Amino acid sequence: MTNWTRRGFLGSLPAAAATLPLAAQQSGRRPAMKITDLRCAVIGRNPVVRIVTDQGISGYGQAESTKPYLKPMVLFYRDYLLGEDPTDVGRVMMKIRRMGAFKPWGSAVSAIEIALWDIAGQAAGVPVYKLLGGKIRDRVRAYNGGVRFPMTGQTPQDYAENMAKMKESKEGFTLIKQAVGFHNPAMMRAIPNGWYDEPRSGPPHADRGLLTERGLAHIVSCVEAMKKVLGSEIGLALDCGPGWTVKDAITFARALEPLHITWLEDLITGDYTPYPNAELFREVTQSTSLPIHTGEQIYLRENFKDLIEKQAVNVIGPDPEDVGGLAELKWIAEYADLHGILVAPHGIFDGLIGLAAHVHLAAALPQNYIAFEYPVGQPEWWYDIVEGLPNPTMKQGFIDVWDRPGLGVTFRVQAARARLAEEDRGFFD
Ligand SMILES: [Mg+2]
Repeated sequence: MTNWTRRGFLGSLPAAAATLPLAAQQSGRRPAMKITDLRCAVIGRNPVVRIVTDQGISGYGQAESTKPYLKPMVLFYRDYLLGEDPTDVGRVMMKIRRMGAFKPWGSAVSAIEIALWDIAGQAAGVPVYKLLGGKIRDRVRAYNGGVRFPMTGQTPQDYAENMAKMKESKEGFTLIKQAVGFHNPAMMRAIPNGWYDEPRSGPPHADRGLLTERGLAHIVSCVEAMKKVLGSEIGLALDCGPGWTVKDAITFARALEPLHITWLEDLITGDYTPYPNAELFREVTQSTSLPIHTGEQIYLRENFKDLIEKQAVNVIGPDPEDVGGLAELKWIAEYADLHGILVAPHGIFDGLIGLAAHVHLAAALPQNYIAFEYPVGQPEWWYDIVEGLPNPTMKQGFIDVWDRPGLGVTFRVQAARARLAEEDRGFFD
């Protein structure tokens, strides 16, 4: 166990002063901490960022497991960080935030931001949520976007059976998200002539076009079957696109209105679309009573401005590992709240360091918070190399917020070292 108290700020912990150099004690100022290294290792498929300082504290951040190629991008920022005081998170971020972009290129900046908060929390002897404004809630709700079971087919019955398994999962989720429509190529390709284009190959979510009557009917039938299983006990959200036409989106939303779906996500743009289309989203949003959701790929508050100010959607879903980090997401959530817009952060691939970051953030978000998307440790051995998460992590769909300084999770170094690739061997040294 690290000796946190020795690193507390002057005044916050009496023991701290005794360990500072004499000059610092006399001036009453703590000598500035300095960043001495920025490292990145791909552990499993998650790029993990480690920021090393001259005072024995390290901070960790993580990027999505879908981005094992990110390491050179993380290291690009190294020279800008060396010598900076990591506890001045805002000043460090000011240097690098403009050097990112929509998913995937905001991830490196975001992971660095999270690692800075981890350091700042440890240095101050407080959990990160305190630095984000303090706790609004003692336990945080997370929704199921990643606890999945193999599909047996693509009929409504198959979707119902699969949903029944998720309903029984040990985490006890109160809200489950399911992929449908163009977000679920297997569902779409199971129907001959489901839309007026041919299936496209390449990176995910390439399909788009006008749905046929048969295509739309199949999607609606699958949703009805799943909703029947969940009843009113557990919420159902749908990740739908991108790629829908505005008119299909409206027809679909209206057909589902009696089912009280929690939200319809990314119908128009989303995932890796490098822009949000506020005007088209607004048209859909104004045409239905179902909440319309987008935002997981968006980088920085500036790119949420139109969506929020034009009331283009009802729910935004920034991912802390893509949007620019925890403080960036907190600011966006507050601004959304001013405009009557809810927030449900994306997070399925954010890994276990990411899970910890989500918990601290969610604890400090305003009352427009719904739930964050629960990241699953993949491969399974991730649970053996990280310590500090509650056991079990979730209880009845909620996670208790912990109070250890920083993110409050760290690596079991010996076990984690065994998972490092040869080129990353010195990551924990
Ligand atoms: Mg999504």
